Amino acid sequence: MAIVEAEGLWKKFIAGDIEVEAIRGIGFSIVPASFVSFIGPSGSGKSTLLNMIGCLDPPTSGRLLVAGQDVTRLGTRDAAAFRGTHIGFIFQDFNLLPVLTVFENIEYPLLMVQNWPVAERRARVEKMLAAVGMSDQGHKFPHQISGGQKQRVAVARALVTRAELVLADEPTANLDRDTAQRIITLMKTMRDEFGTTFIFSTHDSKIVSNAEVVFTLEDGRLAASHHSGEAHA
Ligand code: ADP
Ligand code: MG
Repeated sequence: MAIVEAEGLWKKFIAGDIEVEAIRGIGFSIVPASFVSFIGPSGSGKSTLLNMIGCLDPPTSGRLLVAGQDVTRLGTRDAAAFRGTHIGFIFQDFNLLPVLTVFENIEYPLLMVQNWPVAERRARVEKMLAAVGMSDQGHKFPHQISGGQKQRVAVARALVTRAELVLADEPTANLDRDTAQRIITLMKTMRDEFGTTFIFSTHDSKIVSNAEVVFTLEDGRLAASHHSGEAHA
């Protein structure tokens, strides 16, 4: 079964008397535990598409299944509950909470969705800190670590609930080339370790060499899809 399946998906924005068709009838299928990238120039519809998959914004029409559930017409409350249990997010600007330590930032989603015994919760956070190579940085605050380290923390935070799908919208846009490549490699390692499906977007085709499936968006349409052949089915 696909983890994400889209068919005839459209998204239209209406701002005043201007109408923008950001996504124009696209369809695709993503198998669990795959490592997928949407690429395309700015304005091609990448964020719009990820926001629909992440149940942050509903499609105008078409069909969208995420983790086997039809999310096309989820209400606000159901969408939030669905995200809390199934989806992790990684953002371009890291979105760490500045008043919380690295450890507390990673722990935060566990406090939101699950009522875990403290010791188990701490153990889970420690495990994620180790997985992203940040074990000795847990006590620091976001302003005390580098951009690449912040994104490592964000990867750990996205995975701490064992979400089966992680969406990362231009996760490397604010990083230099080498750091960007290392974050992509880290996300893929996490996929290998936890079997999480990663879907990321980028406008930089040079950093997608790790992706097994690359979809190219142009003007809201799928212009190409490339499968590397080593897909982890
Ligand atoms: P990308 O992430 O590839 O840069 P976006 O998905 O952000 O592209 O945008 C695709 C198109 O949809 C653009 O023309 C953009 O201006 C438009 N768009 C995105 N969000 C909105 C919105 N909330 N209201 C109106 N137009 C929007
Ligand atoms: Mg975008």
